[in-house]
Amino acid sequence: MKISQADKVYKVESKLRAKILDRLMEEEDALSFMEDVLQKEKIKIPSRVEFFSSYGKSILLGKIIYDETCLMFRFNVWGLYKTVILHEIAHVIAGLEDGHGNLFCYIFSELIKTYIPEAYPYLLALYEKNKIKWN
Ligand SMILES: [Zn+2]
Repeated sequence: MKISQADKVYKVESKLRAKILDRLMEEEDALSFMEDVLQKEKIKIPSRVEFFSSYGKSILLGKIIYDETCLMFRFNVWGLYKTVILHEIAHVIAGLEDGHGNLFCYIFSELIKTYIPEAYPYLLALYEKNKIKWN
């Protein structure tokens, strides 16, 4: 069975989380981290930003839904991590049509380099080891 790039990406990110300490304990910490990244990356923040926790079964750790008017970030209460927020923001920058493709993986790596620099070499090693196309 062929493993999809999305599955490889999830595997790599879970290994990354096991290696680094990027858990955010409070929702306010997560919200301010997210707003900080959106601002620094010059992502136009829509008029409505919703950030809420969920036990929803449809999401693994986080999910982002957005258009020009609203940016909605849902996350599972047990899984609030910087890497999850950066993952969702990478989707915003890459565009949803790229899915977990090369562009997405490249953008995610650049966000990691900027916001969790100590994790960057480890991420590249994991990309290599799992044969993820990212550049
Ligand atoms: Zn994703």
